[in-house]
Amino acid sequence: MILAGGRIRTLGRAGLNPQSHLAIAGGKVIACGGREVMSLRGPRTRVVDLNGSAVLPGFNDAHAHVVYYGLTRFAADLTGVRGIDEILDRLREHSTGLKAGDWQQGMGYRTDELTERRQPHRTELDRVTGERPAFIDERGGHARVANSAALAAAGIKTDTPNPPGGRIGRDLNRAPNGLLLESAMRLVADVQPAPALERRIEGVLKAQDLLVSRGITSVAAAVNRGFADDLRAYERLACEGRLKVRVNEFLSWELLEAATSIGVRAGFGGSMVRAGPIKVFVDGGAERVAMRSGGGVWRITREDLRELVARASAAGLQVAAHAIGDAAIEAMCDAVEAAGAIDLRHRVEHCTICPPDLQARLARLGMVAVMQPMAARFGRVASTIFFPVRDRKDLAPHRGLMRAGVPVAFSSDLPVTPDPSPWPGIRVAVEDQVNGISLLAALRAYTSGGAYASFEETIKGTLEPGLLADLQVYRGDPLEGANVNWEELRPRAVLLGGTRVFGSL
Ligand SMILES: [Zn+2]
Repeated sequence: MILAGGRIRTLGRAGLNPQSHLAIAGGKVIACGGREVMSLRGPRTRVVDLNGSAVLPGFNDAHAHVVYYGLTRFAADLTGVRGIDEILDRLREHSTGLKAGDWQQGMGYRTDELTERRQPHRTELDRVTGERPAFIDERGGHARVANSAALAAAGIKTDTPNPPGGRIGRDLNRAPNGLLLESAMRLVADVQPAPALERRIEGVLKAQDLLVSRGITSVAAAVNRGFADDLRAYERLACEGRLKVRVNEFLSWELLEAATSIGVRAGFGGSMVRAGPIKVFVDGGAERVAMRSGGGVWRITREDLRELVARASAAGLQVAAHAIGDAAIEAMCDAVEAAGAIDLRHRVEHCTICPPDLQARLARLGMVAVMQPMAARFGRVASTIFFPVRDRKDLAPHRGLMRAGVPVAFSSDLPVTPDPSPWPGIRVAVEDQVNGISLLAALRAYTSGGAYASFEETIKGTLEPGLLADLQVYRGDPLEGANVNWEELRPRAVLLGGTRVFGSL
């Protein structure tokens, strides 16, 4: 296939300078340049006239909860609710589709969007759920509320102690009120029936439809728990030719032992599905991030983190550490330094509050910062509430990290950000008054940045010859247009390895 007469930005050596023609064969780009590319035309070559349309490499979303997002599509949708009554209404409506014995789940509310400004109480949930166990998730993934039946199923009572790295919400008389923070969520999650493989596969299908429609051709699939079935779901879809997005699957820290003993190493797998980094949580979310100035929740001790990174590194496995606050990032740097593993590209997920001394350490230790550019906007508004940051420059410091030489990969953290479209985040990163970066740097963080993070920069991430023909085609050229609505910008076609997986050419 030859794409002709377009504005093709490879994001490789030519940066943002557009080329007009691109030739694809065997799933890869074989040439990109001007009219001379037409000389490669053979008798069976399809030539697509782009009519001035822009082409970019497919986006790489370096941190998105693919299966979790998919599974929430089967739960009560609580996005956008403005009060506890509305949560109860939606649960009531959703329960009509449940069978006897099913647990009820709901997902997507945020306490700061509720008029009550508090989590619902278990007894409020009980009013609509009755005896059926119910467990609802706050958007953000660090707090959940269980009803009385779900608490009982987990055996959580007044005298149940808080688990390490978590907290059980309580009434004044110490009775559990249903709220479970950070690792305490696991007390109930562990007794909840795990979704079957078939349901996970359905979830992946729902998630991938959304991802490819946003121009995303590669995703690092983040997890919070260890389900070997997730990897199986991707593998099954890949074998059946139904997987439309390349997946680098995180393995929960609970799978470290298993991965090590069967010899999984960083980069294990093929170009469609690979088993990626070991995911571990260092601190909490929102107001529970671990700061040097104190406070926050530690979901793992510094000693345990050091041991985990050492064991993973010795086995040749990369680690992806959830670390938002500066103390958590520092602990991960300490662990990587102690392990002496600078070639494994150990990742800091979020890396939200990262002052210059830590930026320099990340660079020295060969680490990758996997960030959500939307956090720059959210963070600057919310930082006064959530993050005790003294210096605003330390918050979402994209520019500082890049200048220090830290590879940065961008991501959505779907469903924390309910729409994974990279464009709003790219605009935020470029227009950020404090730590703004160039458009080229932002686009690279959302393409080759993710490829580097998964050791795949030599096979994808730009449209240089020899790389996979994962690309997206736009209507017209959004990078030149004056009145582009970045929130609504969508590709009109997406190719994966030269094959159309979305829209039409
Ligand atoms: Zn996440």
